[in-house]
Amino acid sequence: MTIQRTFIMVKPDGVKRGLIGEIINRFEQKGFTLLNAELMNVDRQKAEYHYMELKEKPFFEELVDFITSGPVFAMVWEGESIIEVSRIMIGKTSPLEAMPGTIRGDFAFSKAENVIHGSDSLLSAEREIANFFDPLSICSARDKDYPFDERKS
Ligand code: GDP
Ligand code: MG
Repeated sequence: MTIQRTFIMVKPDGVKRGLIGEIINRFEQKGFTLLNAELMNVDRQKAEYHYMELKEKPFFEELVDFITSGPVFAMVWEGESIIEVSRIMIGKTSPLEAMPGTIRGDFAFSKAENVIHGSDSLLSAEREIANFFDPLSICSARDKDYPFDERKS
């Protein structure tokens, strides 16, 4: 058992297209536990810190412009091997390569506007969660009565 936490974010295109519910539904159906969520605007500093590993990429400015262009829906999820499993559920970065059945395979229009972000490692997950959420605001999956029994991990 490797219970992990990850940072999942519906990007501005996904929020505008009304995909928040669809995405939450997929994670709930998979048995994962939602620990916090917030619809928020992202400032440039937060966006640049979030994507710090891509700072040298030619599309970095475009990426920061996009993430700050409208509200995102930021979430913390917990579950068994969730970092690897959520990346599979999300699909490849490019919609041309993302398999049907994955979130990007089903909904993404372009590499830039690809609906959703998910952390790619434990270290990134910790950094990304801390960038978006106060640690004290994150629920505990081990709280009494939460989550429901069948999803208790
Ligand atoms: P991810 O982990 O699959 O999201 O992909 P990366 O970490 O490599 O890149 C982060 C995000 O940058 C991607 O989800 C895309 O939205 C964006 N991105 C990646 N490649 C390109 C590109 O060539 N052009 C633009 N505009 N954005 C890109
Ligand atoms: Mg990434």
